[in-house]
Amino acid sequence: MQIETRSEKVNFNKLQKRLRRLTGQAIAAYNMIEDGDRIMCCLSGGKDSYAMLDILLNLQKYAPVRFELVAVNLDQKQPGFPEHVLPEYLASLGVEYRIIEEDTYSIVKDKVPEGKTTCALCSRLRRGILYRTATELGATKIALGHHREDILETLFLNMFYGGKLKAMPPKLISDDGKHIVIRPLAFCREKDIARFAELKEFPIIPCNLCGSQPNLQRQTIKGMMTEWDKRFPGRIESMFRAVTNVAPSHLADNRLYDFSKLVPRGTPVEDGDTAFDRETFPLQFTADNDEETNTEDAIIKPVNIMDLPA
Ligand code: SF4
Repeated sequence: MQIETRSEKVNFNKLQKRLRRLTGQAIAAYNMIEDGDRIMCCLSGGKDSYAMLDILLNLQKYAPVRFELVAVNLDQKQPGFPEHVLPEYLASLGVEYRIIEEDTYSIVKDKVPEGKTTCALCSRLRRGILYRTATELGATKIALGHHREDILETLFLNMFYGGKLKAMPPKLISDDGKHIVIRPLAFCREKDIARFAELKEFPIIPCNLCGSQPNLQRQTIKGMMTEWDKRFPGRIESMFRAVTNVAPSHLADNRLYDFSKLVPRGTPVEDGDTAFDRETFPLQFTADNDEETNTEDAIIKPVNIMDLPA
């Protein structure tokens, strides 16, 4: 999409600044990038991974620490995959990159019976290949382009269908125990990223080439969150804040909080049980829904309800 007028340019700059600032804040909050890191950026050809690479390349110029970036795409040999798109784009950026060609598509088609969901095997194969590539490249971190809505969707998927209070962390050790996975866009809104991708005209590669059906459970959660965002401004921001602000003593998991050892101390306890009192909510979150003019983010700065106009 062409940026033509002065106001479009101003709005684009604001959007870009916001995404860069939130990415910088997430990186700092979780110590995602350290001096000397070699970061493998996983590029799928979707809007999120393009945005992540673009933002990290910019941060690389100004960050107080020195780090290297290497972009990696896994060509899974899905029918119609436009294999020239990513190499041409990455060469134009002048960034180090590696395209891995592995026909996981045929393996999945061969192993998974017709009509069954293919994503579990496909992602397991992809994960293994990416871990192996990270080792080959000497990468110290693996960066993925998941954003705030991905994190919340995962939280609800786990609660609704998995019986677990578990989201998608901004930083974690990989399940093979050998790598550190980071999600620098953890604080960024999906709609900001989508708009940014549109304005930057990233050469998006469609994500349905494998012919897999969309995950209905994820679709349901997405729909629910989109509806909430429209009907209850600020709810998404509040939910994300909740993920960063957990009170283990007010849940019921003995592994997180040893309820068996509780003894009264005789002095007031901050965050102690208030018996029959109803919960009050001193904080109210503003929706950062304004696509272009938002300047502060509720993730970082909750608004005190006492400061709001009556
Ligand atoms: S949607 Fe297709 S490419 Fe993506 S994980 Fe599922 S099977 Fe693999």
